[in-house]
Amino acid sequence: MHIITSRAELAQLVTQWHKENERIGVVPTMGALHNGHLTLVNALDGKVSRRIVTIFVNPIQFNNAEDFRLYPRGVDKDAALLADTGKVDVLYAPNENEMYPQGFSTRVLVSGLDGMLCGGDRPGHFDGVATIVTKLLLQTGADVAAFGEKDYQQLCIIRRLAADLNLPVEILPVPTVREADGLALSSRNRRLTTEQRTQAATLPAALTACLGALRAHQPAPPALAQCRATLEQAGFTVHYLELRAESDLHLTQAATPGTRLFVAASLGDIRLIDNMPV
Ligand code: AMP
Repeated sequence: MHIITSRAELAQLVTQWHKENERIGVVPTMGALHNGHLTLVNALDGKVSRRIVTIFVNPIQFNNAEDFRLYPRGVDKDAALLADTGKVDVLYAPNENEMYPQGFSTRVLVSGLDGMLCGGDRPGHFDGVATIVTKLLLQTGADVAAFGEKDYQQLCIIRRLAADLNLPVEILPVPTVREADGLALSSRNRRLTTEQRTQAATLPAALTACLGALRAHQPAPPALAQCRATLEQAGFTVHYLELRAESDLHLTQAATPGTRLFVAASLGDIRLIDNMPV
């Protein structure tokens, strides 16, 4: 596995791969890799002949400087994990100057999908995500790009931007990978104390119970209220808990196939998100 930090070096390799008719797959990440990220790498099996994993903690998608500072980092350990898969050709880990040279002033804004859920209480977050993902898709010349359903709103925004900007890339969605107790794997889980880690299991459990009630045709408002109360009792601050359509994320009260339950909730200063299909 090559580790590349320079855009010029990556461009040279990508040009060569295209000449050789290789199909390129990319997995964009912010590092602190876990089994969820490795599942994205595996999801490219049979779809591509070359794989690039990118690691870049993208400053412009953090609307909280402290969250950016505390975001877990460890490229050496990440590189070892990726090399161990035997599937990754390149780890692309550019620095901030490489991605945002002086004078950088462009933003990719996907309107309509970014005003609710995590876009509601993290203003500018998805512009930052859309901008970096557009740059990474262009830089890697990817034919296929894998994204996790754990960040479902992000997935919808990336699908939209790829279609709208006519990027010749297939966006491959990958179901959420979970711990044995149901907690969605996340780099942020590392910051949970032992006590918070135990409390955190209430999040998937409460969502699962709520989905059970919805599938048993309980009306959405009381089912969601019960779920919120369970989370608050477990010590969470709930930022949102909503039922929305998978297609365009519009709010709905009708728990039908094609809708999803979305939640963001914090334990202390650690914000966790999750979503599950009805
Ligand atoms: P991140 O490094 O957290 O920005 O995530 C990079 C990619 O990994 C995104 O496409 C995420 O949706 C995906 N991802 C993160 N956690 C999981 C998980 N538990 N299951 C599946 N995909 C995940």
